[in-house]
Amino acid sequence: MIELAKIDDIGVHAQRLVRVPKKGNKGDDDFRAPFFALGLLLAGYRWTSHAPPLHSLDDSTVSARPEDLIMPALELDLFLCRTDNFGVLLHDPESGETASIDAPEEQPILDALERRGWTLTHIFTTHHHNDHVEANLALKTRYDATIIGPDREASRIPGIDMTIGDGGDFTFAGHKVHVIGTPGHTAGHICYHLPDDRLLFAADTLFALGCGRLFEGSPADMWSSLQKLMALPDDTQVYFGHEYTLSNARFAVTVDPDNPELQARAAEIEDLRERGGFTAPTTLGLEKRTNPFLRPADPGIRAHLGMPSASDGEVFAEIRKRKDNF
Ligand code: ZN
Ligand code: FE
Repeated sequence: MIELAKIDDIGVHAQRLVRVPKKGNKGDDDFRAPFFALGLLLAGYRWTSHAPPLHSLDDSTVSARPEDLIMPALELDLFLCRTDNFGVLLHDPESGETASIDAPEEQPILDALERRGWTLTHIFTTHHHNDHVEANLALKTRYDATIIGPDREASRIPGIDMTIGDGGDFTFAGHKVHVIGTPGHTAGHICYHLPDDRLLFAADTLFALGCGRLFEGSPADMWSSLQKLMALPDDTQVYFGHEYTLSNARFAVTVDPDNPELQARAAEIEDLRERGGFTAPTTLGLEKRTNPFLRPADPGIRAHLGMPSASDGEVFAEIRKRKDNF
């Protein structure tokens, strides 16, 4: 079992990223290595700050904020693990750093790394379920990857090195990562948001046309978690934990039958899945227009459910209940 004592915050750019002490760690000696590694990381971040700002041709849109500094785009690789889990690798071509979003299964992740010629440096864990952490220890042993995971579930994340919670920030290869606590599916579930890259890793909180089952939270918990995600920009690309989209689409049209964009999307998904294509990533804007779990305020859905004057939370709970029985 991992000890849970929180030791210290590490550095300005890694606030709230807290190192989990190794088993048997009794003194201060072991602290130096991660501080040194983080120092290098922060130094790397500062080096990139010498780059000129973007959009420098048009002064009206220039701001000198650090987030406007030139950074190479992150590369992503998406593949299937187990039966319907998505594996996602996030790679920074400049530094070579590569993160796996969760670790559902070792072999497909190894295959993807090999195909790309990437070396794993990090695992960003979203929640403790076995289909998201099963390969943690194997990958850590092979690559010495640093595992970051939710503070509220730290004791259940194999091999966890660093914990982070709701509102926490850290940098990955100089890219800002903001952590959003999204209880509902599990009590400590977190999503990873890279605001400057317009990327969200929502795992089992938000799916294309669906949302996670409520194993450890109430409908109210999940609804408030989803509202946090809905506040992000519409052009945010959303990667999610499972290819459940076909069955989600078949359910969605029963709740929101008069939504033409949903009907068109559902038909596209039938076709795409028939051909073996993946439905990830989606965008937040598309989900807000077609995912019934984000649309309890919609008058058409409310009318269809016979809940014209219920609260959004009540309508959400009814939709979730219907999906559980679909
Ligand atoms: Zn799960
Ligand atoms: Fe899952």
